[in-house]
Amino acid sequence: MTTSNNLTALRRLPRPAGVYPCVNCAAVVGTNYPTCPTCFLAIERYWLADWDAFLAQEKIQPGSADEQTIAHIIIDEVERHPWTVLDIAMTLLTCNSCGSELGGGPPDCTECAAAWGNTLWAEHYAARLGLVTGNEHALHVGRMILRHSHRQSASIFAAWRRSTPRLLTGWLPTTEFAQRYMALIKAGRLAEVDAALHELDQTLSMRLA
Ligand SMILES: [Zn+2]
Ligand SMILES: [Zn+2]
Repeated sequence: MTTSNNLTALRRLPRPAGVYPCVNCAAVVGTNYPTCPTCFLAIERYWLADWDAFLAQEKIQPGSADEQTIAHIIIDEVERHPWTVLDIAMTLLTCNSCGSELGGGPPDCTECAAAWGNTLWAEHYAARLGLVTGNEHALHVGRMILRHSHRQSASIFAAWRRSTPRLLTGWLPTTEFAQRYMALIKAGRLAEVDAALHELDQTLSMRLA
């Protein structure tokens, strides 16, 4: 049956040692996940590594009809797979209610909302086994928001498109940092936010140097 060997996620590839500019769009790589292919892959590759490993374990060719079939099956086996694997399965499926990528429909599509509920439940299940860090949880949420930004407020999107690339380095903001940062974003004080992040980027590089 299609049970994964273990439920850890996002740990197959080394994380970047600090933030760096995207060769395609020049923003901190990952910032423009929705529109820049290089930013997209900088984040998505961690998920795809888990998906590729799952396909290899199941002896399924990427891009085959079997890949589509297995995506349908595992979406109903929430507790048996790493949450990254469920996230990628969702990208291969279409929502029966709204016709969008599963999880990517309008904010009022309950089937799309339920799909996200399922992958968050899978993460919660793994967390209870001690297999999810706070940083990994934040990346799970961050990718979801970047991928389907129309389901979020403009402030939430503005916050997460900036924080997610930094999370890739292993960084996790303190509650105080996150609250101060969100307040500035809601107030439209983006120049101050970006100045603070620029300062943070120096410490991330130094910490990992
Ligand atoms: Zn880019
Ligand atoms: Zn939907």
